[in-house]
This record gives sequence, structure tokens and C-alpha cells, in this order.
Amino acid sequence: MIKANDIRRKSWIKYDQKSDFPIQNIPFGVFKLINNTENDFQIHIGTRIGDTVISLSEIEKHHYFNDLLLKDYTFHKSENLNKFLKQNKKTWRNVRDRIAELFDVSNTQFQKDIKLKQIDCLFSISEVQPIMPIKIGDYTDFYSSKDHAMNVGKMFRDPKNALLPNWLHIPVGYHGRSSSIVISGTTIKRPKGQILPKNTDLPIFSKSKLLDFELEMAFVTGEGKKLGESISTDEAEDYIFGLCLFNDWSARDIQKYEYVPLGPFLGKSFASSISPWIVTLDAFEAFRVKGETQNPVVSDYLQFSGNRNYNIQLDVFIESKNTMTKITSSNFKYMYWNMCQQLAHHTINGCNIKAGDLMASGTISGPKEYEFGSMLELSWGGTKEIILDNSEVRKFLMNNDKVIMKGFAENKEIRIGFGELKNKIID
Ligand code: CA
Repeated sequence: MIKANDIRRKSWIKYDQKSDFPIQNIPFGVFKLINNTENDFQIHIGTRIGDTVISLSEIEKHHYFNDLLLKDYTFHKSENLNKFLKQNKKTWRNVRDRIAELFDVSNTQFQKDIKLKQIDCLFSISEVQPIMPIKIGDYTDFYSSKDHAMNVGKMFRDPKNALLPNWLHIPVGYHGRSSSIVISGTTIKRPKGQILPKNTDLPIFSKSKLLDFELEMAFVTGEGKKLGESISTDEAEDYIFGLCLFNDWSARDIQKYEYVPLGPFLGKSFASSISPWIVTLDAFEAFRVKGETQNPVVSDYLQFSGNRNYNIQLDVFIESKNTMTKITSSNFKYMYWNMCQQLAHHTINGCNIKAGDLMASGTISGPKEYEFGSMLELSWGGTKEIILDNSEVRKFLMNNDKVIMKGFAENKEIRIGFGELKNKIID
């Protein structure tokens, strides 16, 4: 039992029952203050309860984490979560449990302390600007949704043999570019590159005409093992700190011309974006579900026990001219290869992982048409029109479109979510 997950717990911080951030969430992020104060340039490591943002840097400075074996200056004077990620799962849990205790409705002492010691640790969400929470080391993108892989295979190859022969045997993935991973709110500039017009042999240089989103989730890793060693599926969760929403922006026309024979390159590397609050894997404990039965039977090192998929609702909206249209509704539970298998596969050759690496799921599509996780699939390669609620038509994304992703897990007792990931496309 993870103490911070106790559904009976209430907080002395007030929040809406529909919030993605009840006291049972306790995500981790990094922020600075918007207002012009003397603290303006200070970067805070933080968490969030409802619409109240909490500076863990300030709380650490006042010694409330001292007995937890947390390394000095993990939050205070840190500019990202990497120092925290470098410590282990036990420490992550202890800190999350302590935050739950401090903000528990019964903890009147801490409320008094805040006033007496003038601990400046509470801010309204409107006063803060979230910034990149992690200094991302390496970034890997998997391709683990069967429905997505099938859709792409049907469109571009052979409908009867939509999956490539290796797909059911290994979690396919590639090493991506981490320098262009940005946080929610960053504008996305339409990329340029070489594209091959239809029925021609020579490429032209052009702005991408087929700009797309990919609905994905990503997990952030802790410090792995030494180079040459592997992480098993049983061990994998000890190395997974938490999750965020991930939009793997894609220029389909650039991608299509360049991907043979080495795979994705400039059609992907211009930008990917993440939601600002990293929600711990622990917070989703109540939402474990069984994944699809894997057939054929997978290699020994990919076998696992227990439920390793998670029931997390994922929605995508396009906002154009102040109208927001929901265009897809998918779920993280649709992953064929789970995160433990992805991590076991990633390290089976001895490749090491570091604290602050990011591993993305690949586009998450469900079996139904309204569950497809990209414009490529929703417009079926540009052959179908997607009608927005203000009657505008899309096949791919246009300039000034805002793409919004939301994700949450919910049962009768609790809702745990990410808030939103929102970016605007500019020319
Ligand atoms: Ca992708």
C-alpha cells in the first residue's frame, strides 16, 4: 500500500472534485513565478494540488524532508528534476508520502508553521509558469500500438499483411532527438524539407504540407544499471519514475521521402512536446489493467507477470478560431507492448539508461475510427475530411491550429490526470 495513494485522505488545500490533481496525485514539475517580484528568477521544483502550486524547493529549505535520506539540494537550488530522478524509487515514494502528510487535512501544525516561519511555498496556478521539468538525456520512441501499426501498414503497404513480420516479436523503436523536446505552451514552427510530389521522381524543397500530431504517452526513467547489464521486466518499474503526455509532431511528407532505409529523421526531429507535470507511476497504481494477450508467445526476456497496462483515457482536441473540437478519444490500455517490456527490450543488449531519459510509447490508436491517434489515420492518408465543430475542414494541421491533449484515469473514487498539453502551430 502506497500511503500517498490513500483515497480517504483529504487536504487542507481546497480543490474541485473533478480536478486532475487531487492530493492522491502529487505530480512533480518545475516552475517560475510570472509576476515581477524579487523571486522572479528563482526556479522552483514543485507539485500541485488542485489549482495550488507548491514549491518543494521552499519546503526542503525549511527542512521538512531532512529525515528522508533525500540528498541535499535535491529541490532547493535545483533547476530540474534530474537530481531527484537519480535517487531511487524508495526515496521518490518517501517524498511523495511526506508531501501527502504535510498537506493532509489533519496536519494543522504545518499550516501554522507556514505562517510562523513565513514559508513562501503556495502559489495559484495563474501566478506560475511551468518550465521543462527534466533535462532530457536520451529519447527513444517506440511503436507499440498494434492498431496504429496496422493502420499505417494498411495505408502504405499491404492491407492483408499490415504488420511487418518482426512487429509481434520485438517492441520496435528508434532513437530520437531530445534537444527539440519542448514543454506545453511552446509554439511549433511548421518545418521545411524535401518532399516528393505525387507522380514525380524528383523531390522539391517546401514547407511541410502534411503536418500531424501523434498522440503518445512517455515515461521518465531513473538511473539505470551499468553499461553491459540489462533490466528485466520484473525490475523495470523500479526504474520508471513517472509519465507525461507526449505529442510527437510529424511532417508526413518529409517523413515519407526520407525514411528509407534508416527510418525517421527530419520529419520527426523538429519538435516533440510534453505536458508539464510528471505523474508518478505509483499514482496510477489503482488503474492497472491486463493488456491484450500476446500471440505468438514472446521471447523469455519479454515475458512478464501481473497487470502492466494502465487504463488512462486520452483525448485530442483541435482549437481553431476559438472553437475546440474533440477529434479523437483513445486509451493507454491499448498498448500491445507495455512499458516493462519496452525497458527490458531497450536494455537487453546491454544498453544503459540514465536518470532523465524519456521513452515514448508510439502513437496510441484504438480499434475504432474515433480512437485513432494521428491525423494520418483519422483522415486515412488524406482521403477523408475531418469536420471541426465550426464547420472548418481538416485533413492535416493548419497554421494557427492549437492541438490539445488531455489524459486522466478515473474510477468511482478518484481521478488522476495530467492536465493538458497544448501547442499552437505557426508558419
Ligand atoms: Ca512517434
